[in-house]
Amino acid sequence: MDPREMTNRQLGDVLLATTRPCASSPELFFATDDETESARRMREQAASVLCAECPARRLCFEYATRTEPEHGFWAGCTAEEIRMFNQLGEVA
Ligand code: SF4
Repeated sequence: MDPREMTNRQLGDVLLATTRPCASSPELFFATDDETESARRMREQAASVLCAECPARRLCFEYATRTEPEHGFWAGCTAEEIRMFNQLGEVA
């Protein structure tokens, strides 16, 4: 099924049922309060590699663009980038 046609509940359920790289390395997907800029860049780069190989990436991107999480790294994007995608979509 096309992720765009799924409800938020369906997206969440399928995401949870999928073997996701972030589930085994959650520390790469969320910043700590004292994270430095260089540590953030390295962490997000490592997370990007995992997202690129993730079978749930399209689902994850759809979920993130709908829910606009305040924090974290989703489908290869920061939460801020997800918000920017949505703002650009509203303008286009
Ligand atoms: S694409 Fe989403 S579900 Fe997959 S590893 Fe990245 S953050 Fe996790």
